[in-house]
Amino acid sequence: MKKERVLITGAAGFLGSHLSDRFLKEGYHVIGMDNLLTGNINNIAHLFPREDFEFYHHDVSKFVHVPGELKYVLHFASPASPIDYLKMPIQTMKVGSLGTLNLLGLTKAKKARMLIASTSEVYGDPHVHPQPEEYWGNVNPIGPRGVYDEAKRFQEAITMAYHRFHNLETRIVRIFNTYGPRMRLDDGRALPSFMSQALRGQDITVYGDGSQTRSFCYVDDLVDGIYRLLLSDYSLPVNIGNPSEISIKDFAEEVVALTGTKSKVIYEPLPTDDPQQRKPDITKAQNILGWEPKVSRSEGLKITLDYFMQLPEFK
Ligand code: UDP
Repeated sequence: MKKERVLITGAAGFLGSHLSDRFLKEGYHVIGMDNLLTGNINNIAHLFPREDFEFYHHDVSKFVHVPGELKYVLHFASPASPIDYLKMPIQTMKVGSLGTLNLLGLTKAKKARMLIASTSEVYGDPHVHPQPEEYWGNVNPIGPRGVYDEAKRFQEAITMAYHRFHNLETRIVRIFNTYGPRMRLDDGRALPSFMSQALRGQDITVYGDGSQTRSFCYVDDLVDGIYRLLLSDYSLPVNIGNPSEISIKDFAEEVVALTGTKSKVIYEPLPTDDPQQRKPDITKAQNILGWEPKVSRSEGLKITLDYFMQLPEFK
């Protein structure tokens, strides 16, 4: 039987590569697309020998051409860590806006269904806690994070416009902090920073006083939530994340304890517009998708540490 075809943009990235694995496992033919700006081909090297996987080296901000039929389009291309989008502000805005527009056009032409990767950043530095999907957010449009936050907000708006105006089948996932194997060691985010510092015996840099909170979801849980959302018939945004909230200071201490490092925690200035607290309200995901996270932070951190430890630098 002919396999159904799925286009995954950002396929060489952290989430895109895990999604590619999952869709292949579910029996789909996967077309991965990436311009390799922040993605790493090593993340999908194991897929290249397969006949049910193809890779297109392409920037989705430019016209996207894919021959043949498509059942689903998943748009996961974007710089996604604060230091990446500070270094690449224009590309970040283009992939969220022009890239989304191109992919919506492609989805419409193929009579497919599209899922976009939105983010808890649409809530900005939230005044409502935990954050339900109905909360409109508190975003600084012209701050350093604005390029990402506003691109993602535009992405949601244009996706809903295609849904309402063209009756396009669309899904919107708002992704909260996620971690796991294949995160880039140098992407600047809390977990890879803390683990690489611990393994190198360097000071562990907590920004601010470390009282700001995040809620970290293990990647397999996230991918499962996304898969369920895509197959559901729900077209409004759905939060996917792990509601287990922790301060960044305590999170750094967890990494210290897990690695057994002698590194000490030091405090550096808090970046501009760094959200003070973040925790998903996952009532919708529970009710509509029957989804909730299964992997505890202690299990997930162990798996992620094992992954970092087998990288050439730490072997
Ligand atoms: N953070 C930190 N030290 C680091 C990297 C990040 O204290 O070396 C803090 C950062 O200021 C933020 C939190 O950890 O408060 C999570 O940051 P991350 O970049 O992982 O994600 P985001 O801010 O997008 O949630």
